[in-house]
Amino acid sequence: MTINVLFSARDALWPVYQPLLSDGLSAAGLDVRLGRDFAPDDVDYVVYAPNSALQDFAPYTRLKAVLSLWAGVEQIAGNATLTVPLARMVDHGLTQGMTEWVVGHVLRYHLGMDAHIVNPEHAWTPVAPPLAQQRHVTILGLGALGQAAARTLADLGFQVSGWSRTARDLPGVTCHHGDAGLQDALARAEILVLLLPDTPATENILNETSLGWLPKGAHLINPGRGPLIDDESLLAALDADHIAHATLDVFRTEPLPQEHPYWAHPKVTVTPHIASETRPETAAQVICENIRRGESGEPLLHLVNRALGY
Ligand code: NDP
Repeated sequence: MTINVLFSARDALWPVYQPLLSDGLSAAGLDVRLGRDFAPDDVDYVVYAPNSALQDFAPYTRLKAVLSLWAGVEQIAGNATLTVPLARMVDHGLTQGMTEWVVGHVLRYHLGMDAHIVNPEHAWTPVAPPLAQQRHVTILGLGALGQAAARTLADLGFQVSGWSRTARDLPGVTCHHGDAGLQDALARAEILVLLLPDTPATENILNETSLGWLPKGAHLINPGRGPLIDDESLLAALDADHIAHATLDVFRTEPLPQEHPYWAHPKVTVTPHIASETRPETAAQVICENIRRGESGEPLLHLVNRALGY
């Protein structure tokens, strides 16, 4: 029987994904119709961007699964009309892109690059930076992205700690977990990276109290999600010199409104949600593999725990 796969994402992505999915599904030996416009009760799978127009899944009575093109699924995890399995994106290209972005921004802080890139006084201050072995980096979130970044930073020689909901065991990384482990994870963080999902349990995880657990002069990098940070508390910690500098890629409102204090703050670098993105070539393989699994009765990859929200 023919399987109908609805592509529900930005128009510009359709010509990119269409041939990749078509080739991948044919190679899997599946008889598939791939399109942007089906009667809802004909659709078997939805390839989905959470910002697409499709938000009411109730008419999709034949639906077997929704396959997100995004890693972060906070916009759909709580959708009550969605009653079939939801898989999120774990894509090699997305992971590599995030690792490169995180390592780049960690090295900016570690090496103190700004002092030489912006040096209007032409100051000659020949102080060599310490080695990575003398620098402690903490990553909140040890999932697909956090683990990859932690591994690469540990390979570079950094002292790396991580924090997750459940216990993790990663070579070269000091792992903490659960509410009780957060203070220890933050206590030595000279550079802190947020790679947590946005869930009810992680909202404002970085607040006045937890910011206070960081050592004075810590640097913050947030490529996770905006709501992880209580913005007022971060601005206060920056102004009090408790946090030396923050690089923020994600925000509660995106694009970040022009009047937001982060734009003009001398200790904040704003990047426009570009830390990493799903790469069609590798992501299409993940989607095709999940449809193949769905059709052969195998468990889907990267299923979202809807109760936990990630
Ligand atoms: P995963 O689901 O693989 O990992 C999430 C990690 O967070 C896990 O280690 C999990 O713990 C931990 N976690 C979740 N809830 C809690 C909690 N309450 N307390 C402590 N730890 C918790 O996600 P990914 O690594 O794939 O992605 C992380 C996030 O990165 C995405 O959700 C998205 O928001 C963001 N992202 C941002 C992009 C950008 O361009 N800025 C691009 C792509 C993703 P455990 O291991 O125990 O499950």
